[in-house]
Amino acid sequence: MSEPGDAPGIPPPFGREHEELRATVRRFVENEIAPHVDQWEDERLFPRELFDRCGELGLLGLKFPEAYGGQGGGYLHDAIWVEELSRRGASGGVAAGLNAHASIAMPPIFKFGDEWQKQRWLVPGIKGEKIGALGITEPGAGSDVASLRTTARKVEGGWVVNGSKTFITNGVRADFLVCAVKTTEQGGHDGISFLVIDTDSPGYEVVSKLEKLGWHASDTGEIAFTDVEVPDEHLLGEENGGFKLIMSNFAWERLLMAIGAVGAMDELIETSVAYAGEREAFGRSIGSFQAIRHKIAEMATTAAAAKTLTYDTLRRFDQGEPVIREVSMTKLMTQRALVEVADQALQIHGGYGYMKEYRVERALRDARLGPIGGGTDEIMKEIIGKTFGL
Ligand SMILES: Cc1cc2nc3c(=O)[nH]c(=O)nc-3n(C[C@H](O)[C@H](O)[C@H](O)COP(=O)(O)OP(=O)(O)OC[C@H]3O[C@@H](n4cnc5c(N)ncnc54)[C@H](O)[C@@H]3O)c2cc1C
Repeated sequence: MSEPGDAPGIPPPFGREHEELRATVRRFVENEIAPHVDQWEDERLFPRELFDRCGELGLLGLKFPEAYGGQGGGYLHDAIWVEELSRRGASGGVAAGLNAHASIAMPPIFKFGDEWQKQRWLVPGIKGEKIGALGITEPGAGSDVASLRTTARKVEGGWVVNGSKTFITNGVRADFLVCAVKTTEQGGHDGISFLVIDTDSPGYEVVSKLEKLGWHASDTGEIAFTDVEVPDEHLLGEENGGFKLIMSNFAWERLLMAIGAVGAMDELIETSVAYAGEREAFGRSIGSFQAIRHKIAEMATTAAAAKTLTYDTLRRFDQGEPVIREVSMTKLMTQRALVEVADQALQIHGGYGYMKEYRVERALRDARLGPIGGGTDEIMKEIIGKTFGL
């Protein structure tokens, strides 16, 4: 077992063992994802087989115990996977689809699920045989999660679900939906529960696959429930205790978004430096212009600050410290930083940056979701402000 920063050049909280995983993941992304990403983006979906392949390599279960088919690692292993998935020519859509399953839908089942639930969804999920999605957002409830209206009515032996969800990543092809529902008349903080709904249940309907600015290789679904019968055994965690589950999941989701931004910024800087060295204007390389050098300097400074903040919050989160303020700050800072860095990278690439082949336009489109998804910038500021007792 390696210790954080136990070899020269390895930044804490990572150790030698994590860097070995990084090398493996980097090879996998470069060889088996990057060459196909353009096609998957055009097709608006990456193939289902990628889940199987990631499962086979153990990448979907890095932080889950071996007893369930996982690798027995921890958050730091997952962080390496997510960071590498965000560079080396992967895309926001590919990362979103894989992470929505492995890092957002499965963790609540591991954390709050009973043994039967783990065997039913976590074990096949880790293998990549079943794909999961997390269903919280509704047409009338985004930032204001507590106002969700999808209702689960108690009946003999289970629940009957009616309502709808929108913007659900993996929502078109998921096999199970970890779904927030209202289980009291008034709903709200003390009236939300989670049900794991098999998507082949009668009355479960994928209404549409949404067209979006970025994340093209992932399916984002709109879902409707009409008298969907869900057995009692599908209740995840405590009845009416769903708000706690939502909150516990958000911290990791937000940190993962920050880690993804760190990987994406590194990639954009490398690409921009290489381009600035090759492209000529006025008889010299554009990298020799002070304005371009300064742009690279700004990008690198922003990325370094984002990485330092993210790694420090990750270390503290991994050690079990209460980090609500820090996670919110990290999410807020890194997502804006990535948009800024992607925009500067596009500027350095000039007209070519606007063209598909150079992939900078995709990075900018993909980055724009960061300040919205997983809790908007405005909501992050609210949370941070409230931690000061205001
Ligand atoms: C591509 C994509 C994938 C997604 N994947 C998932 C998924 O897998 N599962 C899932 O459940 N959800 C998912 N989402 C939903 C995402 O989490 C929401 O879009 C997000 O939480 C914001 O909600 P909203 O879009 O309804 O915006 P709204 O809540 O309507 O906000 C609109 C604007 O008002 C601002 N605002 C709202 N409340 C306040 C306030 N109190 N103070 C100040 N400003 C405020 C917001 O910051 C924002 O600028 C996804 C979204 C997208 C676009």
